[in-house]
Amino acid sequence: GKKFPTNLNKLIDEHLRLAYQGVRVNDKSITVHLVTDFDPTIGVLDVVPQDIGRVLLNLFNNAFYSIAAKQKGRAADYEPEIRVSTRRHPTFVELRIRDNGLGIPQTVLEKIYQPFFTTKPSGQGTGLGLSLSYDIITKGHEGELSVDTSEGQFADFMIKLPLPPA
Ligand code: ADP
Ligand code: MG
Repeated sequence: GKKFPTNLNKLIDEHLRLAYQGVRVNDKSITVHLVTDFDPTIGVLDVVPQDIGRVLLNLFNNAFYSIAAKQKGRAADYEPEIRVSTRRHPTFVELRIRDNGLGIPQTVLEKIYQPFFTTKPSGQGTGLGLSLSYDIITKGHEGELSVDTSEGQFADFMIKLPLPPA
């Protein structure tokens, strides 16, 4: 794909809302508290918009899925939340997507970027989302993709995209 100057905050916000529309547990829509904290100074960034869009959609779908799975077996005190933020650093832009769903156990964590690895029931996941996302961010954009997680508590995915030298 070809790179275009892209308003990343806008791209993120659109894909977040797109992913939220499909979220259902036992055929009922659920309320997820969306907290967005966009840094307006990141401006436009040269990226392949369709590719970054695929990464975002996959990360958001994963987050909503994890929240929905946790919601299924929960008492009323669970308050599903997704926090999304962007930050401009001197040499890169940082994007974080944090959900308070099931988190990722250590044994699973070691495999999440492997093609076709999924913990979802057949038909619900291809296991290609994160491996594709990893390639798009690292090979396609010279960036980084990483995750911080605590089992049962949260998963916090972080993307770093380099800024052109000043
Ligand atoms: P898929 O979504 O098709 O399973 P992915 O490559 O997107 O494939 O994700 C691989 C696996 O990583 C998932 O099946 C799940 O076990 C784990 N995972 C990814 N994102 C999250 C998340 N936000 N919370 C918990 N587990 C996650
Ligand atoms: Mg996925």
